[in-house]
Amino acid sequence: MIYDKRLDQFQVGQTNKYNVFRCLIREGPINRAAIAKRLHLSIPTVMAIVDELYEKKMIRSAGKIEAGVGKQPEILGIEPEHFFYVGVDIGRSTLRIVIHNAIGTEIAVMNEFTGDTFPAKEFISRLQLKVVNFIEVQGIEIAKILGVGFAMPALMEQGTGRVIFAPDFGWTDIPLQDWLQGGLPYPVLVRNSTQAMGVYENFVTALEEKGATLCVNLGYGIGAAIIIGEELLEGTGGISGELGHCVVDRNGPLCKCGNSGCLEAVASGEAIAHQAQTIISHHAQSRIAELCQGNITRIDAKMVFEAAEGGDGMALKILQTAAVNIGIGVSLGVNILDPSRVVLCGGLMRNGPWFLDMIRSSMEEHLVARSSRSLVVAAGASDEYSAAKGAARILMNTLWARRELPI
Ligand SMILES: [Zn+2]
Repeated sequence: MIYDKRLDQFQVGQTNKYNVFRCLIREGPINRAAIAKRLHLSIPTVMAIVDELYEKKMIRSAGKIEAGVGKQPEILGIEPEHFFYVGVDIGRSTLRIVIHNAIGTEIAVMNEFTGDTFPAKEFISRLQLKVVNFIEVQGIEIAKILGVGFAMPALMEQGTGRVIFAPDFGWTDIPLQDWLQGGLPYPVLVRNSTQAMGVYENFVTALEEKGATLCVNLGYGIGAAIIIGEELLEGTGGISGELGHCVVDRNGPLCKCGNSGCLEAVASGEAIAHQAQTIISHHAQSRIAELCQGNITRIDAKMVFEAAEGGDGMALKILQTAAVNIGIGVSLGVNILDPSRVVLCGGLMRNGPWFLDMIRSSMEEHLVARSSRSLVVAAGASDEYSAAKGAARILMNTLWARRELPI
């Protein structure tokens, strides 16, 4: 192979340009000298790149630093409307869409009832239309949309966005990413929703931390995401973090995956609701019966939490058992990974700090070498849009890695 020095120089130049642009997004507004120092580049190199970005109207002046005497350096920021990117959370009950501008600010959000998810092809057609319409209503040109990241609660094939199994949707082997891409005029990426949520939680709470984070999504189902530094650990086949399908009680109820007594089958939002429905159907005295106004099918986990907060012993007992089992499952993950942080998020965590305390107590009992660990166990950002925002972030990270940004 003939060595081409010019090609090498071009690649270095491109890398520098990408790094300056990324520095402006992550750390801007920032002045030229600070960029040079941060990226270990010469000031003339940074100045040349900045001039080019100015010319392309990708950045703008954000004023001057008002400190000291003499000439004040100009600070620079990304032009917020240079591009946009979108995140969509395909939740079983709620569909959520978030649009971010170039500096990562959320400029529009929407949520609505998910509705019928079967047959998959019809659902996906409706979803495409909703995404296109929502972007159109904001008055954003198609060319300015970098892409749409989708979060899907399913076992996914690594890298292809193919759904292997989505029990809550009744889907098996659906090429979701390909079908979505077929009807959308922007790049599309689909990832597991818990992994998306984990990426977002890690981004908002621990950008500078280097350790591992175990992010556990406690919602209608249960899953986990493992993040090392800023990187998502996807596993060999892309299905890491299936904490919900670790067996915590072999004599427990049958799980959708075919095993018995999985964590998800005994402690998820769906399991909590099911346990309450069974108890109330046997005429047990409980505040839950009043809250559901006699309609047992209306009982959900939120109702059980509401009853427990009102002092209902039955509801509290259901949640205590769930918390013990969650503590066992999370301890299993911690014993294997030895992370620096556990972040507990999802719908079940939006019900007051006492549930977190119950889980912590159970972990105290089940963790090995707990006194020698410097482990932080915290509630997540409690943001109902975290999976959508995480999917958007994964999309951006992927575009960065592939150098597919319009620079
Ligand atoms: Zn299972």
